[in-house]
Amino acid sequence: MQEIIDAHTHLSERRDDALNRFARKNGLRYTLDELLSTMRRYKIARGLLLSPPLQGGVPLPNNEVIRLCMRSDGRLAPVITVEPAPKKVKAALKLAEENRKEVKAFKVRLGYVKASAESPVFGRLYDYAESAGLPVLFHTGDTAFSTGDLARSHPLTLDGLANKREELTIILCHFGNPWFEDVAELIYKHPNVYADISGLTTGGAYAEKYAEWLARKINEAIYYAAGAEKIIFGTDYPITKHSETLALVKRLEVDEGDKEKILHLNAERVFGI
Ligand SMILES: [Zn+2]
Repeated sequence: MQEIIDAHTHLSERRDDALNRFARKNGLRYTLDELLSTMRRYKIARGLLLSPPLQGGVPLPNNEVIRLCMRSDGRLAPVITVEPAPKKVKAALKLAEENRKEVKAFKVRLGYVKASAESPVFGRLYDYAESAGLPVLFHTGDTAFSTGDLARSHPLTLDGLANKREELTIILCHFGNPWFEDVAELIYKHPNVYADISGLTTGGAYAEKYAEWLARKINEAIYYAAGAEKIIFGTDYPITKHSETLALVKRLEVDEGDKEKILHLNAERVFGI
């Protein structure tokens, strides 16, 4: 087994990080040292680092994500978060261009921002992502805060974009939870659409039954799509612990070859890492 790639982690080392409460709940210190040593323990060779939300709802500035990656000895690569304002799109693309070798993808926070996937404000982002061959990750499904906008984070809102932008690689984060069947159809229908399995297990009452339910939903998506070529491993640290997301993959009733695709082969192909 090759080493694993975690395509969805967060970090800031800031007190105003809105994910600190998830870290506390999971008994995590949520520091760069902890993340790197946990990755080593679970044989996770590389990770993609995404901005966490800060208190007040804004994402951690992208240059701080890049700085954290620079301290990771090449084990973390930055994903640039793009917010829906012309100036912010421009700044994000400039930063991506300046760090062309390091940046592996962009992220759009559907459900947290007041724009949908097909909003014209993202046009320049999609043009650039297509020409640079960089995937765009979209938050889909349930939001971490009760103020989220589910009409905009629903996975089916990506169908129109995937139709219009066949050259754009689209990754649906969190498998659109709870809309797994919609995501199964999207990854089956569109050659350019993928889904990650990050941030799904969250503990609480019925945790064991819920973990079974999740595995069943992902199994069914794989059976429906006739393979696991479009499914990518991610933890969403600190929202979900590494051990929990790895246990979810272990639970899947699919060929070992498909588990290898999920754990690293698909990510290597899609992100060029
Ligand atoms: Zn996340």
